[in-house]
Amino acid sequence: MKILIAEDDPTSRKILEGVLRKIGHEVLETVDGLAAWTELQKEGAPKLAILDWMMPGMEGLDVVRKVRSLDLEKPPYIIMLTTRGEKADVIAGLDAGANDYLSKPFDTGELQARVEVGRRMMELQDALVESRKALAYEASHDPLTKLSNRRAILEYLEHEISCAKRSGDIVTAGMCDIDHFKKVNDTLGHQTGDDVLCELAHLLRDHAETRGRAGRMGGEEFLHILRLPPESDFMAEYAALCSRIAATSLKTRSGDILVTVSIGVSRAGEGSSVDGMLGLADAALYRAKALGRNMALYADNRTENAN
Ligand code: GH3
Ligand code: MG
Ligand code: MG
Ligand code: MG
Repeated sequence: MKILIAEDDPTSRKILEGVLRKIGHEVLETVDGLAAWTELQKEGAPKLAILDWMMPGMEGLDVVRKVRSLDLEKPPYIIMLTTRGEKADVIAGLDAGANDYLSKPFDTGELQARVEVGRRMMELQDALVESRKALAYEASHDPLTKLSNRRAILEYLEHEISCAKRSGDIVTAGMCDIDHFKKVNDTLGHQTGDDVLCELAHLLRDHAETRGRAGRMGGEEFLHILRLPPESDFMAEYAALCSRIAATSLKTRSGDILVTVSIGVSRAGEGSSVDGMLGLADAALYRAKALGRNMALYADNRTENAN
């Protein structure tokens, strides 16, 4: 592990460095608080720092305060070195955000043991941050297609609606449902159906690109959101999406498959809400199904036939 030492006393610095290197750590030495503060702000900064209390430039205690004010995702473990054995000082150091302290002159066995505690704490912290990230991913993604799940895509739509009100961009919600999907499951099996869902998810994600986002609402229904400049022909986008899907062979365990989708599209306007947009898109989707499928239909009755 990379360890930062900030210590102005050369003898003490030398002992620290020797002990830490001997037990296999990489050591970065600084001789004052300012240099330590600079190092701790860098990308890939040491995860553990041993800071002397009294140093020129900036005291160890101030370095601790500054580091803690950064509110880092993975803050370093900080051990304060002090010749002041005073309880009040120790309390002040811990209050400022130090994790531990060592009184000088220090015992090398105690130093090693305390560094080891810090290393274990940092390992735990890494694991905790990773599992928090994994949980956040799971809470917002559909496990099968890896697209945003229903909750996440609706949150995104809410955000885009409010952006549209400010920017004047066109924001659309395309409710996209696979045509006769039950037949795929019934004839080729549920797993092949899953393959189709994954392949279709790719197509939707590629089409949205940086202009929007696709999410899985549930079953074989996806929400495809676009944000386009004012005056864009958004229905041409959805008609093109329909055509592209119909023309693309989807790779499945049962071989290449062609499917079509029907899309109901609504557009954000003054006073739009997520529920309102979904309701309009759903109604347009229902009409697209009734009119023969494989088409994108706008909620205000304008039809864009993909054929
Ligand atoms: P329509 O054109 O009217 O939409 O017909 P459809 O067959 O697509 O619609 P229906 O609602 O009758 O059937 C939807 C099917 O989607 C039924 C269900 O088994 C299937 N389905 C839902 N979720 C999944 C899934 O995660 N995996 C697979 N393989 N199938 C799913
Ligand atoms: Mg000093
Ligand atoms: Mg459906
Ligand atoms: Mg369907």
